[in-house]
Amino acid sequence: MRNKRIWQRMLGLDRAVIEAVDSDEEVDAVVVSVRPRKGAQRRCGRCGRRSPWYDRGEGRRRWRSLDLGTSRVLLEADAPRVNCAVHGPTVIEVPWARHGAGHTRAFDDTVAWLALHTSKTAVTRLMRIAWRTVGSILARVSADIDARVDRFEGLRRLAIDEISYKRHHRYLTVVIDHDTGRLVWASPGRDKATLDRFFEQLGPDRCAQITHVTADAANWIAAAVTQWCPNAVRCADPFHVVAWGTDALDEVRRQAWNDARGGRPQHVTDPRRVSRPRSGNQLKQARWALWKNPERLTERQHHQLAWIAGNNPKLWRAYRLKEGLRYVFAVKGDEGKAALDRWLAWASRSRLRAFIELAARIRRHRPAIDATLEHQLSNAIAESTNTKIRLLTRVAFGFHGPQPLIALAMLAHGSHQPTLPGRP
Ligand SMILES: [Zn+2]
Repeated sequence: MRNKRIWQRMLGLDRAVIEAVDSDEEVDAVVVSVRPRKGAQRRCGRCGRRSPWYDRGEGRRRWRSLDLGTSRVLLEADAPRVNCAVHGPTVIEVPWARHGAGHTRAFDDTVAWLALHTSKTAVTRLMRIAWRTVGSILARVSADIDARVDRFEGLRRLAIDEISYKRHHRYLTVVIDHDTGRLVWASPGRDKATLDRFFEQLGPDRCAQITHVTADAANWIAAAVTQWCPNAVRCADPFHVVAWGTDALDEVRRQAWNDARGGRPQHVTDPRRVSRPRSGNQLKQARWALWKNPERLTERQHHQLAWIAGNNPKLWRAYRLKEGLRYVFAVKGDEGKAALDRWLAWASRSRLRAFIELAARIRRHRPAIDATLEHQLSNAIAESTNTKIRLLTRVAFGFHGPQPLIALAMLAHGSHQPTLPGRP
């Protein structure tokens, strides 16, 4: 019957037979009765295996389909159970929806695409669903891709990092492929057990193929990489090492500020030039000048640094040590290693507690830092993916649990993006 073929086409139901089309005023929708075509029947909903009949299940079921024009559309069908050899009694597979879903495949895919490309309001209003439902749909679409594609294929060089979300109360560990720039894996938690799960999934053969891992200097990452990847060079992330330098500088600055506010008098070239409140204010204002890369300093900040150079030798020394550490990673290679040797000697003699401790810390991480200088891999790729995921964490408020957020991140930055139904 021609009519049915048109309906079939409009609903994108190629492996199903349309039995009837009705209007249900009560739920304000067009209800289309369908059944799987012969050949698509009696398969386990979870694995697709042909299985013997079990029972009628819970009778008729409905799935929300894409709207037609201004009207909502529901598909309705029997949902009997088969007895799968692996999964036991399971509701049959239907060609139009994912297992356990209340929405059709085309509906799910459209929502996933919209969630990545439009606003929260656009998705929820256009599709007439709650944001929380969007979260479950994302999880479903992403799990479906996981089941079909091998995200771990050809992995050689990894970047591992952590992201905080929910105002720093929750963490995700993320793994990124240096060669493709794609997000490979993400999971709640930031400890060795979390990362162990990734390497377990990767399997021993593929772990052995990993040649480089970049990460910040977190011990749990180092421990997991050492245990699982026998052939990997571990590279410390320059960004984090330089950040340690900035932290040490800040400790010296705070001390100098406390001294200036009325603590011990400090050693200055000309004590008469420094009245205490002025010194304190100068130090407070110079904060940004001290942190910034010199090439980005404003003229005013140059003056602030000059003032520190003339009035606070300790703080000036700390500033130059921070810049020295940055230089190590700017020149890289053997030159960088030689510069680091000189830096360590200088820091150890600096009489600045923060930098003496930092030198000891850097010595502990020296092999990973040398590897970074040799291989010139940085975790910047992870940092930039993290920045993008952090934006996603903002919209993830209202999702239920971390899985929808992870799904959203994988769909946005993984190897496979959701596509709109009916478009190539
Ligand atoms: Zn099964």
